[in-house]
Amino acid sequence: MSDGQKYLVTGGAGYVGSVVAAHLLAAGHRVTVLDDLSTGHRVSVPEGAEFIEGRIQDVARWLDSSYDGVLHFAASSQVGESVAHPEKYWSNNVGGSMALLAAMRDAGVRTLVFSSTAATYGEPATSPITEDTATAPTNPYGASKLAVDHMISSECTAHGLAAVSLRYFNVAGAHGSYGERHDPETHLIPLVLQVAQGKREAISVFGDDYPTPDGTCVRDYIHVADLAEAHLLALTAATGGEHLICNLGNGNGFSVREVIETVRKVTGHPVPEVTAPRRGGDPAVLVASAERAKDRLGWQPTRADLAGIVADAWEFVRQGE
Ligand code: UDP
Repeated sequence: MSDGQKYLVTGGAGYVGSVVAAHLLAAGHRVTVLDDLSTGHRVSVPEGAEFIEGRIQDVARWLDSSYDGVLHFAASSQVGESVAHPEKYWSNNVGGSMALLAAMRDAGVRTLVFSSTAATYGEPATSPITEDTATAPTNPYGASKLAVDHMISSECTAHGLAAVSLRYFNVAGAHGSYGERHDPETHLIPLVLQVAQGKREAISVFGDDYPTPDGTCVRDYIHVADLAEAHLLALTAATGGEHLICNLGNGNGFSVREVIETVRKVTGHPVPEVTAPRRGGDPAVLVASAERAKDRLGWQPTRADLAGIVADAWEFVRQGE
């Protein structure tokens, strides 16, 4: 067992938050999950974590000086919804994070790991994407996360916060009984698995005329457990007065058609596909350079194999059958 720190995990009933909470507990830390269950699930909160059902905007009610740090996942995270209802994203993501930073300042909690996103970069012309790539989000979701990153930077400079923002590429896979259950589901791998399960007739391929080898979009899929490990390393790497920003991805791009083919191989089920029009705002290629995470956090992903990522997600969805 380690020295057992005490951490608040906001949004710890969601996909990534629950996997990180489970990793913190396994490492011997104490964990309190704060989640309003608007998109999270009570059953996803790991056993052994204290659970508070409450809004991030009210975090000051519960945060006190007994905490060694905060891991902040509580946010709205659907791109399409953010275009239709931007006010929700400013309120939950920016407003919620403002409330959190104020509560941390008041309580004297000075370590933060923030769940940021590749959506802060928008549609960069160069690949792979480094942290020096210009940020130019193309939707309110990415803009709200970028605004929080700016807020955190200034908090570090002005008030000595120790913070790490982790910019995720395409998170996938599962960690035992913790996996992805969005409603509505919009992500490629869970949708293709629903087709393999017979719950959906076919997978729509959103555009096959992109400037990529097979014409479909290329993404960098990262296993949620590799991602979780980076959060624990970030807690150790966080330094007072510095805002460290790190991309998290494997640096390997897979096309939509390669993902579908991998699901066929892993599941042994047929997966009919239909070509559909492009989805608005989808860049052709998004691949990370995660050199900084390796260098500064000592992070080394060990589950980069796409078939392994899909196999873990497949095992998770079959538990729910
Ligand atoms: N995609 C697709 N059909 C679907 C869902 C997604 O072709 O039913 C494509 C989508 O256009 C993108 C890739 O799969 O190129 C990954 O999409 P996802 O929503 O999983 O993640 P994103 O890259 O948008 O964060």
